[in-house]
Amino acid sequence: MTMQDTDAKRLLKALSFAAHKHRDQRRKDADASPYINHPIDLANVLCNEVGICDADLLCAALLHDTLEDTDTTPGELEQEFGPLIRDLVVEVSDDKHLPKAERKRLQVVHAAHLSPKAKLLKLADKICNVRDVAHKPPSLWPLERRQGYFDWAKQVVEKIRGTHPGLEALFDQAYHNRPG
Ligand code: ZN
Repeated sequence: MTMQDTDAKRLLKALSFAAHKHRDQRRKDADASPYINHPIDLANVLCNEVGICDADLLCAALLHDTLEDTDTTPGELEQEFGPLIRDLVVEVSDDKHLPKAERKRLQVVHAAHLSPKAKLLKLADKICNVRDVAHKPPSLWPLERRQGYFDWAKQVVEKIRGTHPGLEALFDQAYHNRPG
């Protein structure tokens, strides 16, 4: 990352990098939406819904699932985007070696200890996922699984309340659509 890089350049680079890494992935909804829509949703929530347009944070939002869901390494993120963005993405990534239930439990435990920017990413991620589960849910998820997702997301958010009232209000609005 050189001093000449503008925010717009970095954002487009992050978008292009993430789109390439997620190119063969789809969301689990009935329409099998392109995976990249989800990181774009996060960046949109942060910048266009609550006015947090910090370029590092938006780059990290676009890249936030590349470690967890693609072959991307932390070293690659550092090389392309610098240590700050690498650290942010690492912070919001689960340890893929752990079983799913343990990963979900640890997200609740770790949420309170995240850095301020990582907390913003976590909030935006939970807003987007809860909206998706409400409005275009994974086609194979029965009611209890959708409800369980809402309840788990709320547990994570409760650990980081006090971070950003606007994001927390958006989460609460989204949670209002808990299925059932
Ligand atoms: Zn995500």
